[in-house]
Amino acid sequence: MSHTVVVIGGGATGTGTARDLAMRGFDVTLVERGNLTEGTTGRTHGHLHSGGRYAVSDQESAIDCMQENRILHDIAGHCIEDTGGLFVQLEGDSDAYFERKLEGCAECNIPTEVLSGEEARRQEPHLTKDVERAIRVPDGAIDPFRLCVANAADAVAHGAKIETHAEVVDLPITEGRITGVTIERQGPNHLGEGREGQRETLEADYVVSATGAWADQIAAMADIELEMAISKGAMVVTNVRQLDTVVNRCLPKGEGDTIIPHETTVLLGANDDPVDDPDDYPEEQWEVDMMIDIAAEMVPIVEEARMIRAYWGVRPLYDPNPESTDDPGDVTRNYFVLDHAERDGVEGFVSIVGGKLTTYREMAESVADHVCDEFGVDTACRTHEEPLPGSSDISNLDAEMETFGLRSPIARRSKQRLGDRAADVLDTADPNPTVCECEAVTRAEIQDAIEEVGADPNAIRLRTRASMGNCQGGFCSHRISAELYPSHDARSTRDALDQLYQERWKGQRHTLWGQHLSQAMLNHLLHATTMNHDADPALFGSEIEYEAFDAGLNHAGKAHGD
Ligand SMILES: Cc1cc2nc3c(=O)[nH]c(=O)nc-3n(C[C@H](O)[C@H](O)[C@H](O)COP(=O)(O)OP(=O)(O)OC[C@H]3O[C@@H](n4cnc5c(N)ncnc54)[C@H](O)[C@@H]3O)c2cc1C
Repeated sequence: MSHTVVVIGGGATGTGTARDLAMRGFDVTLVERGNLTEGTTGRTHGHLHSGGRYAVSDQESAIDCMQENRILHDIAGHCIEDTGGLFVQLEGDSDAYFERKLEGCAECNIPTEVLSGEEARRQEPHLTKDVERAIRVPDGAIDPFRLCVANAADAVAHGAKIETHAEVVDLPITEGRITGVTIERQGPNHLGEGREGQRETLEADYVVSATGAWADQIAAMADIELEMAISKGAMVVTNVRQLDTVVNRCLPKGEGDTIIPHETTVLLGANDDPVDDPDDYPEEQWEVDMMIDIAAEMVPIVEEARMIRAYWGVRPLYDPNPESTDDPGDVTRNYFVLDHAERDGVEGFVSIVGGKLTTYREMAESVADHVCDEFGVDTACRTHEEPLPGSSDISNLDAEMETFGLRSPIARRSKQRLGDRAADVLDTADPNPTVCECEAVTRAEIQDAIEEVGADPNAIRLRTRASMGNCQGGFCSHRISAELYPSHDARSTRDALDQLYQERWKGQRHTLWGQHLSQAMLNHLLHATTMNHDADPALFGSEIEYEAFDAGLNHAGKAHGD
């Protein structure tokens, strides 16, 4: 009989751990209080580090990043854009540090090439004229949403169960051993099971906490003190992609000095400021302004872009020597497997903390190795060699662009997102219009996501990128939600529209100036006035009307579809 393990946390570390343990034969359930990627994983910069950033200050992390960067290219190709990266030295930046960076990269086995200012500007014409030299490194961009979903899907393919919207509220303990988790449902899971407020205890032989910045809160449920060194960072999203290479400033201490191209956008960020509570910290306008100013020193044109949203994330850092520094930038990016039996005398429970998105797979492998040791399981890890779903063969992406009757830019974007699942998803006999123009997402992709996650519009969004572009859902959130009908009822469809629109609005509050202010006003007018989205009870006010709609009548009493 296989051993049961509950993994808490649906970020990269948790989904990676669930996949690894399921592949090694454990009976795994993953519980996540929100959607997958709800925590820090959905709020990163999406920088697939080469390790260059840490090559001087934190070499252990740098070595891990380079090693995992290579592995992820093999197993998660459809989640990665191979942009390459530059560390740019601007006029006045230290020569000595530039040389030290090169040495550090060599010490960490990170391939480098030195470019003159002119060569760097030939590669990235929008770099400032003040660029003197640059170091080319194998940085890239990685899609955290696609990565997590692929890990979760593969975990399920190996027998795991994923419970989203299931918050752990207690860790039952008997004679010094954790015996499972008590969850409180925040809503039905993606299969429509359960309801809000429902409590259940899931028994387990072992519990893994992969809850990142929330790890101390989970540990506290077992009376364990775990001091995290969490820090927040802001990121700003532009509406255009003005560069194709990851650009970092070559400075000893950098905040907000990385620019990452992502799909149709560019991400600027991030600062590094300590916070006490990962759910409650100020999101301040000066942080947004600072990210734009620092990025513009390297690539002046970013200042002219339309900023479509800003978002914040909290780093799940852990400092084994908390006295050593009070600067969050100095806290190691290493990860730690904290065995609570050894550390705190509580059996059946481990936390995995720290690390990076780039090193999630190695973190998962380490904690899965730990669980295997606990149960004397000697099955080897295979996650470094078995591709994630979608990534097994992406070599023919370009060749197949014209298939499926889609215009080629749309086909290309779809195929990049779907990898080797593209044929299955896009080859449909039904009409396949584009639902989200900004991100080139068609109905077939939306329907594929709905099949997987049901009426959860933000889960659909993070699988497809629909509503994440220029209009921020203004022109498409109602179309995305409408795709739910009639497989879901009118009430769920309407609720989905509200949830998606609110989530999109949240990130735009900090970028309301210039062109994006006009877009936001237009969105507001379309939704509030034309579509009556700010809840005038005259439209869809009562359950009776929803029922009538579902029965085929619209609110005016006419046959639906007339
Ligand atoms: C601003 C910023 C930028 C970053 N940029 C990069 C980058 O470019 N590249 C890189 O490699 N790394 C980056 N990182 C670091 C990286 O994002 C994180 O290390 C990584 O995503 C952490 O993943 P995780 O799975 O460990 O944690 P999380 O993704 O936070 O997952 C933990 C999950 O636990 C869930 N949870 C919490 N409490 C409960 C509960 N009671 N019950 C159930 N579930 C619960 C949360 O909802 C969350 O989804 C960045 C971090 C920040 C903050």
